[in-house]
Amino acid sequence: MLGPVILAASRSDRMRRFVSAAPGTKQVVARFIAGESVDQVVPVVQDAVAKGLEVTLDVVGEDITTREQAFAARDAYLELIEHLKELDLGTKAEMSIKLSMFGQALEGGHELALANVRPVVEAAAAIGTTVTLDAEDHTTLDSMFAIHEELRKDFPRTGCVIQAYLYRTEADARRLAASGSRVRLVKGAYKEPAEVAYQDKAETDKAYVRVLRVLMEGEGYPMIGSHDPRLISIAQELARKAGRKLDEYEFQMLYGIRSEEHLRLAAEGHRMRVYTAYGTDWYGYFMRRLAEKPANLLFFARSILTK
Ligand code: FAD
Repeated sequence: MLGPVILAASRSDRMRRFVSAAPGTKQVVARFIAGESVDQVVPVVQDAVAKGLEVTLDVVGEDITTREQAFAARDAYLELIEHLKELDLGTKAEMSIKLSMFGQALEGGHELALANVRPVVEAAAAIGTTVTLDAEDHTTLDSMFAIHEELRKDFPRTGCVIQAYLYRTEADARRLAASGSRVRLVKGAYKEPAEVAYQDKAETDKAYVRVLRVLMEGEGYPMIGSHDPRLISIAQELARKAGRKLDEYEFQMLYGIRSEEHLRLAAEGHRMRVYTAYGTDWYGYFMRRLAEKPANLLFFARSILTK
């Protein structure tokens, strides 16, 4: 029951100030955030690739309030791409983007986000890699899917994310699978009302399997974004039944969560991509990680109290 409370707090400025200033926070944040700057994240990427893993890099940030912040987000990704160019990793290092950080919620935000994200997708393609558009709360998704479709006209490998907890997702999956998209399927990390989303974890898990079947049987490239051992073995079984080879789908997990499982799946020959978040505006991302697992909150509370 704590999850929804933490998710509500993830959008409170007062809580943001409290959590950011609390002693001990940095140490817990470091479990989920790979560094504050691009210089700090580069060695993390090199280490992951040396271990047979791939990465998708996320410059943390969301819900910005000015156009200048949106341009700064674009520039942060362009700076990242300059570093990736030197590493020459191709699709082993791709990027994940939240359109709310690119200005989607501002006035004229749909056009602004599209105009901001396009040069990033172009620059990514120029170094042989791709971008995936993350899924945020349900009010943003029509715009995200429209931007995804627009970008795919020139950059067909641009990916997007769908969330199993939303009732709409099975229909989205059918459309995206038929069009041959790269699609990451996740359970969903936002606080959503019962009008649009399952509230019960078991219902979400069942929906995840239904949607995964659609993706596996479709024309696209499924990216299984989950740490759930049951769903991972179901995914392996569905891929086998659909006749997919190991390079025709991939697993994705978050940096700092079930790291031994990243290595196990890679050692089995699977493509395993680690979602690696870095940057200074980590608050929203961090709070969603706390909401997913109450034990994280206990650990966090303890580290504050013992400082
Ligand atoms: P769960 O049932 O939540 O977890 C299964 C097991 O994994 C748990 O028992 C625990 O052992 C471990 N685990 C899961 N979460 C944590 C945690 N925070 N800390 C410690 N252990 C944990 N959501 C979106 O809404 N939009 C996105 O764009 C998005 N992108 C994502 C990208 C990737 C690569 C991944 C892996 C997740 C992403 N998510 C996104 C988050 C996702 O929606 C879930 O909230 C998150 O993955 C937890 O669900 P789960 O499938 O791992 O299953």
